[in-house]
Amino acid sequence: MLKSLILPLIVSSLISAIGSLDLSLSGKIGYRAVCYYLATTICAVILGIIVVTIVHPGRGDSESIARAGISRNVTTVDTLMDLFRNMFPPNLVQACIQQYRTLLLAPLKGTGDIHTWTMSHEYVSGTNILGLVVFSTALGISLGKMGSSAEPLITFFQGMSGAMMTITNWVIWFSPVGVFFLVSSKILEMESFSVVIGQLGMYFMTVLFGLSLHGFIVLPIMFLIVTRKSPFRYLTNMGQALATAFGTASSSATLPVAISCLEDKNHIDSRVARFVMPIGATINMDGTALYEAVAAIFIAQVRGISLSLGSLVAVSITATAASIGAAGIPQAGLVTMVMVLDTVGLPAEDVTLIIAVDWLLDRFRTTINVMGDSLGAGIVNHLSKGEL
Ligand code: ASP
Repeated sequence: MLKSLILPLIVSSLISAIGSLDLSLSGKIGYRAVCYYLATTICAVILGIIVVTIVHPGRGDSESIARAGISRNVTTVDTLMDLFRNMFPPNLVQACIQQYRTLLLAPLKGTGDIHTWTMSHEYVSGTNILGLVVFSTALGISLGKMGSSAEPLITFFQGMSGAMMTITNWVIWFSPVGVFFLVSSKILEMESFSVVIGQLGMYFMTVLFGLSLHGFIVLPIMFLIVTRKSPFRYLTNMGQALATAFGTASSSATLPVAISCLEDKNHIDSRVARFVMPIGATINMDGTALYEAVAAIFIAQVRGISLSLGSLVAVSITATAASIGAAGIPQAGLVTMVMVLDTVGLPAEDVTLIIAVDWLLDRFRTTINVMGDSLGAGIVNHLSKGEL
C-alpha cells in the first residue's frame, strides 16, 4: 500500500513545494539540505572506518564464511555513470516503471579484462525515482518562474499531494500489523540464526555499533546544537516512520509515513518536508554509507589485505558515492558495494561473503537513513524559519 503511494506523492509534493516557494528561497533550502546531506554522510563514513579499524572484525579466514548467491559484472565507472543516465530519463512514462542499466557483454573467446568488454544496456523493472525527482524539481522551478499563469497547475499538484497524505494517514493505521508480519516472515525464512550470527557476528556487531553511534549520538548532537530542541522528543515523534523503515527496509516506501510524522507531530513546514524528504530518501543515506565502508574494509580484512591511508580515503569517497547512488529499496546498498570493493582491488564476487546477514543489517541501516533525513528536515526547517 505504501509503495503505491510513492510515485504520486514524490512527483506532486516536489512540484508543489518547489513551485510555491520563491526561487531564491527554494535554492537556499535546497543548498542547506545538500550541505547537511554531504556533511552527515561523510561523518558516517569516517565513523564507520574508525570503528571497523579499531574493532577489526575480519580475521583472515574467508573459507569458513559461507558464500551464497551470484553477482553482476559491473565496473565502478558504469555504476556511477548509470546514476547520471538515470537522472535524465528519455521517457517519463517509462521512468515510472523502468530503470537504465549498463550491461557488459563478455567476448566470445575467453573473458579477459572486464574494461574491454562490449558495452550494452538494458532496462530493468523498478521506478527510476532519481529521474522523476530531477524532472519534478525542474518542473517546480519553471512553475515558480511563470507567476500567476502557473497557479492552476500548482493548485492541482498541491491537491494531489494533500490527497496522497490523506491516504497515507489511513494506511498508517495498518503499519503496526504490517511491520509485525514483514519482520516475522523474514525471521521464519532464516535457516539458523546462530549459524548466521556465529560466522559474521563480529562484523554484524561492528556495523550495528557504528550505526548506533551515528544515529543516537552524532546526529542528535548536531540537531541539538543547531535547533536547541530536544532531539529525543523529535525522534520519538518519528517512531512510526522509523518502525516502518525497519519493517520495509526501504526509505522510499517509508517516505509517506515520514512526511506525515514530520508535518503532524513535529510541525515541520509542509513546503520543507515535502521538498527535502523525497530528495533525502533518494540521495541521503548515512546508514548505507557507514555500512559500505565497514563492509568493504571487513572483506579486505578477511582476505588479509591491509589498506594504506590512500586506500582508506578512496574507500570513503566511493562509499559516499555508493550511498548516493543506492536506491531507497531493500538491499540496494549491497549492489553498489561492488564500487567500493573495486577501489580496494577486491573482486565483485566478494559481496557474497556478507550476504547472509545483509537482510537484517539492511533494516537497521534503513532506519538510520530515515532518521538522518528526518533530523535534516528539522534542521533545514529551523534554519529557514525566518524566510518561510
Ligand atoms: N534499503 C536501504 C534504503 O532503502 C538502502 C540500502 O540498501 O542500504 O534506505
